[in-house]
Amino acid sequence: MNSYDVAIIGSGPGGYVAAIRCAQLGMKTAIIEKYSTLGGTCLNVGCIPSKAMLSSSHHYEEATKHFADHGIEIPGDIKVNLEKMIARKQAVVDQTTGGIDFLMKKNKIDVYEGLGSFKDATHIKIEGKDAGEIEAKKIIIATGSKPSSLPFITLDKERIITSTEALELKEIPKHMIIIGGGVIGLELGQVYRRLGAEVTVIEYMDRILPTMDAGLSKELNKVFKKSKCKMMLSHKVKSVERKGDEVIVKAENKKGELVEFKGDYCLVSVGRRPYTDGLNAEAAGVKINDRGQVEVNDYLQTSASNIYAIGDVIKGAMLAHKAEEEGVFVAETMAGQKPHIDYNLIPGVVYTWPEVAAVGKTEEELKADNVEYKVGQFPFRALGRARASGDIDGFVKILADKTTDEVLGVHMIGARCADLIAEAVTAMEFRASAEDISRMSHAHPTFAEAVKEAALAATEDRALHV
Ligand code: FAD
Ligand code: NAD
Repeated sequence: MNSYDVAIIGSGPGGYVAAIRCAQLGMKTAIIEKYSTLGGTCLNVGCIPSKAMLSSSHHYEEATKHFADHGIEIPGDIKVNLEKMIARKQAVVDQTTGGIDFLMKKNKIDVYEGLGSFKDATHIKIEGKDAGEIEAKKIIIATGSKPSSLPFITLDKERIITSTEALELKEIPKHMIIIGGGVIGLELGQVYRRLGAEVTVIEYMDRILPTMDAGLSKELNKVFKKSKCKMMLSHKVKSVERKGDEVIVKAENKKGELVEFKGDYCLVSVGRRPYTDGLNAEAAGVKINDRGQVEVNDYLQTSASNIYAIGDVIKGAMLAHKAEEEGVFVAETMAGQKPHIDYNLIPGVVYTWPEVAAVGKTEEELKADNVEYKVGQFPFRALGRARASGDIDGFVKILADKTTDEVLGVHMIGARCADLIAEAVTAMEFRASAEDISRMSHAHPTFAEAVKEAALAATEDRALHV
């Protein structure tokens, strides 16, 4: 039987990054993955393929709607070849997952293909291509998550689908009904809206992206409405039924009336659930809580002291970069180091256009905590760079402590915000004040100038360009 210092179950961004860091720290490492490709949800059916489809559909929208403004004329019709678009997405995925194979070899990590399940706290049975058993002194559970649904929905995966099928459609829907105005619903809704589908988003709460700052929800909702997506807020879905090629969704509005929607596809994007099916966690003494999450302490150690858990399968945001940080954290903890993660400073990004990005506290959270704060907001339309490229929607909002001026939260919506948020994370990691940011030189003309201007507005209400 092969023996290891560490074995990792699951090869998503949590698992494979943990494996690399363990190997870097000199541990003999194995990784077990039930699918034939590494990279987990993120690389295979999540972050990477969705961003490939967002990019392709964005190009199409630019070509059909905005090229003419720039004086670019394309004779004849511009058409979408969905099959080719999806093939390109798959090529991006294949290249990316292939890159993880390379990294495993480079770091001398043994890869086992098969379902891993605990025999006890130090032995894992593998069922599948590389069937057998391995032994490990320490084990990291990184088994991720799967789409969740509503109890009355039957996901037939043809017309009533999850994000996984939505990344593989054979045709552009005529009318896609989306249940859930969260990250997946909005990103994939925008993809298919751009490609020509009618899109209806049904959201239970009174705003989309309910966990983000309300200002961002409002602004993105406006953008979606402008693109003629139907945004049905405060609607509670009651039933989803398929009749032939039609899907009928019934939802209750605020007045208690039942509203009916008919479409040819229904994307169910109401969240994801931690995945521990087949893991046999009990055999190792690993506790799973009533939310299905592997229970961990501050060191991400489970109820079995040699077993750790990271990523979507534990509490916290279900984000690839959160899983990665935890992978590194656990590897370094096992090596006797003292790493640290500030969960308040894990940024959240929605890759629609305009992009939405945030870090730190929202206004709603600061109010609830009775923190006195100042707000500095700057609109992209006041920036030369935004006007030059034609991306004028959105703003940057900085929330700073009223007394100390420390930056407490940064919330932005606009072009390239997914990248701009990194500056806010850096500033907050160093506990910068709004004035600190406002006194740093930002290249002109850039979108990043909006961050400086919002900081000026927060410091002394003295933005320069509004
Ligand atoms: P996962 O990536 O889910 O990987 C877990 C792996 O474990 C899987 O490969 C699974 O097959 C394997 N596994 C499970 N059980 C076993 C077992 N018993 N034996 C062997 N193998 C097992 N996050 C972002 O930060 N940015 C984004 O842009 C983003 N976009 C997304 C888009 C979509 C459509 C979706 C669905 C998700 C997106 N996410 C995004 C979320 C992100 O994918 C997850 O947060 C991330 O993948 C979690 O990483 P993980 O390592 O915890 O688990
Ligand atoms: P989500 O939690 O982001 O959104 C789910 C939405 O569904 C919420 O707005 C919720 O109020 C709504 N909802 C729940 N029950 C409902 C009902 N009965 N009727 C109508 N609406 C209902 O979940 P998601 O969009 O499925 O994404 C799952 C996870 O994947 C998220 O945690 C997210 O972090 C991750 N993800 C991240 C990215 C990114 O970082 N860009 C992209 C995609 C997915």
